[in-house]
Amino acid sequence: MITLGQQRAKAQLSRLYHSSRVPHALLMLGQTGWGTLALAVEFAQWLQCQGDPTGSTGPCGECNACRKAAQFIHPDIHFSYPTIGTNAVSTNFIKEWRTALQENPWQDANAWLQRLGAENKQGNITKDECNAIIKKLSLKTFEGRYKILIMWLPEYLGKEGNRLLKLIEEPPEQTVFLLVAENADLILPTILSRCQLVKTDPLTDAEIALGLQEVRNLDADRSRQIAFLAGGDFNQALELADNPENDDAALLLDWLRKCWKGNGVELVRWTEQFAKLGRENQKQFLQYGLHFLRELLAMIVAQKNDARLRPDELQTARNMARVLNFDKITQLVQILTDNVYYIERNANPKILFLDSSIQINRILKEAS
Ligand SMILES: [Zn+2]
Repeated sequence: MITLGQQRAKAQLSRLYHSSRVPHALLMLGQTGWGTLALAVEFAQWLQCQGDPTGSTGPCGECNACRKAAQFIHPDIHFSYPTIGTNAVSTNFIKEWRTALQENPWQDANAWLQRLGAENKQGNITKDECNAIIKKLSLKTFEGRYKILIMWLPEYLGKEGNRLLKLIEEPPEQTVFLLVAENADLILPTILSRCQLVKTDPLTDAEIALGLQEVRNLDADRSRQIAFLAGGDFNQALELADNPENDDAALLLDWLRKCWKGNGVELVRWTEQFAKLGRENQKQFLQYGLHFLRELLAMIVAQKNDARLRPDELQTARNMARVLNFDKITQLVQILTDNVYYIERNANPKILFLDSSIQINRILKEAS
C-alpha cells in the first residue's frame, strides 16, 4: 500500500502505536483522496506486524502478517463499507473491495458504488452489516495481535450506527475500530464521542506530483501540472491523469453556456439527457460545480487571474468573473448546494435542473 504525505497524522499514529495502550476506537477524518483510507490500512498492517515493534516507524512489510495485510486477506483485519441493497453485507462484495483497494485506495464513494453497479441506487451500511460486525468481533483472533475493523465511510450508517454503540464503547479484548470518515457532521455524535480523532490533511502539490510519478510513471512537468489542478486530492489527480477529457468539466461548461443563452428548448433537452446520468453521477457533477464556483469566487475576491482549473475552464471562469460578483456567485453556490440535498432525497432531476437552469439564467442576466 502506497501512502503519500500525511507526516502529521503519521506522527500521531506512531505516538499511539508506541503508547502503552492503543485506543480501541479511532476516527480517521479526511478525504479519501488525501489517502485517509490508505493510511488506516497501513496502520492496521503495522498493528498486526510480527516484526520487532521497538523503535519501529511502520510495518516491516516482510513478515507473514504484513504480506497478508498488504493483500487485504489478513483474517483479523475486517472491512466494512457502503454497499447497495437493503440486506447487503460487506463480505458479499469482498472481491470487488480487494480489487478496488489494489487499484485505487484514494477512490471516492461514487466510484466505489458505481463499481457495484449502483446507477440510481444510493449506498448504505445496513442493519445486517452491523449485526455481522458484532458477530465477527465477538470471535477470538485467528492469528493477529488485534482484531481490527476498518469501516470506510461510517457516514453511510445513518441511524444504524446505534447498533454499534455498545461494541465501540466496550469492545472485546484487543479490538480496534478504525473509522475512516470524510464528514463528521453525518456521524452520530454518540459514536464520535467514543473515538479518538486523527485528522488527515490535503496533500501538497509536491506530494501529489511525486505520487503521480510513482503510480502512473508521468514525467515531472505533467505531474506538476496535474498536481496544481488536483487541489490536494490524489483521486482527482489520478482522474485527471487517466482521463485528460474530464466529463464533469465539459458538462458544466456546456450547462453554464446554455443557462447563459436561456433557450428553453435547449435547456429542456439538456436536462433530459442529464436526468439519465443517475443520482450518484449527478451528485458528483454538483460537487464538481461547487469546486468550480469556489475557484471562481477566490479569483474574484483575491482579484487573481489564475485558479486551480484546466485551461478551457479557466477561460470560462475569466469570462464569468467579468459579469458576476460575489453576491451572484453565492446565489449559484446555494442553488447547487440545495440540489445536492434534493437529489439525495430523490427529487425528480428533470424538474429540479430545469428550474435551476432558469434561476441561473436570471442570476447571470440580472444587472449587478
Ligand atoms: Zn511485518
